Amino acid sequence: MEHIRCLIIGSGPAGYTAAIYAGRANLSPVVYEGIQPGGQLTTTTEVENFPGYPEGITGPELMDDLRKQAERFGADIRSAIAIKTDLSERPYRITFDNGDEVSADTLIIATGATAKYLGLDDEKKYAGMGVSACATCDGFFYRKKTVAVVGGGDTACEEATYLAGLASKVYLIVRKPYLRASKIMQERVLNNPKIEVLFEHNTVGLFGENGVEGAHLVKRLGEADETRYDIAIDGFFLAIGHKPNSDIFKPWIQTDEVGYILTEGATPRTGVPGVFAAGDVADPHYRQAITAAGSGCKAAIEAERYLTENNL
Ligand code: NDP
Repeated sequence: MEHIRCLIIGSGPAGYTAAIYAGRANLSPVVYEGIQPGGQLTTTTEVENFPGYPEGITGPELMDDLRKQAERFGADIRSAIAIKTDLSERPYRITFDNGDEVSADTLIIATGATAKYLGLDDEKKYAGMGVSACATCDGFFYRKKTVAVVGGGDTACEEATYLAGLASKVYLIVRKPYLRASKIMQERVLNNPKIEVLFEHNTVGLFGENGVEGAHLVKRLGEADETRYDIAIDGFFLAIGHKPNSDIFKPWIQTDEVGYILTEGATPRTGVPGVFAAGDVADPHYRQAITAAGSGCKAAIEAERYLTENNL
């Protein structure tokens, strides 16, 4: 079985930044890219809020740069998906879908999270053409335009409020007759004149020639007074939750009820010594490329210290 000093699973900003730091610390990091090489940013177009790019950069270019930077410091980047882990004792054992089975002294989990979608064909059809799961990433493109946000939780309320600062009108499409969000977030939404909350509404489709121009809605789906109508919108934002990609670690690592890995305070330490979590898999709150990169850096520094302290 191949032995690795510092194994990194995941290739978003957290994974690659961990690889840059681990490479520069001579830990010979090995990165397994996972399901979506380059992570969630590869599905966005322009990234304008990552420091260091005054003109902005596309998501795929940014990830390509981070990958090259990791390779420059010796990261061995492989494409396979981790399917099984045994973290019961060190060295930790990880199995991948291409048949690789490795043991590792330290493990950095940077497997990210996946935004949930409604499952409509139109979401795929208009991906990057008006459909987004990140208001902070893409909201800027909808200045003075009309957008819709789907969801009734804190994320949806936060995104609707954020978008109301940019767009001329925001519809909040909520399937229940009430919001699930915290009281304060609800108040912000309900008191914002730019936001119109459509309770008991479901989206059944999107339409438009060269991008989203509107949504097909159903009010009180399945009820006797069910009504169907369309709204004109330029952007359609999903905010119905994220799923952290933590399932294969769950037997060993503590998560919250949603599946976000729990770490010790502001550190990336999990309850298993030498195993660290970085980026969105452990972050239900910020979910930004720059915060993921920062936590990847912390995880690599922790891994280096752990190896030194344990003479590994
Ligand atoms: P939540 O799970 O809290 O809310 C998801 C929302 O999406 C619910 O309103 C749910 O409706 C709706 N939804 C789910 N599936 C569908 C669907 N198929 N069609 C239509 N609507 C759907 O997720 P959040 O991302 O909002 O929040 C996750 C966690 O992060 C929460 O604990 C939240 O409090 C926290 N958070 C805190 C923030 C803060 O404090 N500033 C900011 C953002 C998040 P329904 O109610 O009917 O189930």
